[in-house]
Amino acid sequence: MSADLSELYQQVILDHNKRPRNRGKLPTANRVAHGDNPTCGDQCNVYLRLDGDRIAEISFDGSGCAISQASASLMTTQVKGRTGPEVESLYRQFHHIVTSGETPDEISDLAAFAGVHTFPARIKCATLGWHATLNALKGDAADATTEKHTD
Ligand code: ZN
Repeated sequence: MSADLSELYQQVILDHNKRPRNRGKLPTANRVAHGDNPTCGDQCNVYLRLDGDRIAEISFDGSGCAISQASASLMTTQVKGRTGPEVESLYRQFHHIVTSGETPDEISDLAAFAGVHTFPARIKCATLGWHATLNALKGDAADATTEKHTD
């Protein structure tokens, strides 16, 4: 990755930290899931309003490190309007980026987290919000602790 691109992606993470998107409870939510990453102390609640099989609205709240909160914020902007299978496909792309450091050819905000692959302990921070959303979509309101996910 070029230095310029790396800097651009750094800005994406800083921006989501400074101005988180879709942060707060969603009064109209019909699915809620909680994510917990005890390794780092990150917490993330995800609130969804499903309309048919699509995510009509989404929000998150929680606390934790900058990576976990910025990633959850970015995730909400990527999954809104999508169906469960589309979200799973996006998650697979994101998981590949954060575990391999390989970025897609086209500019993608998801690639902002490519640098995480050099800090394996932070992968769980970056995927926490995604796990919570996938569990909310499955209707599984149980805790989405990252400890259950070895990937
Ligand atoms: Zn963390």
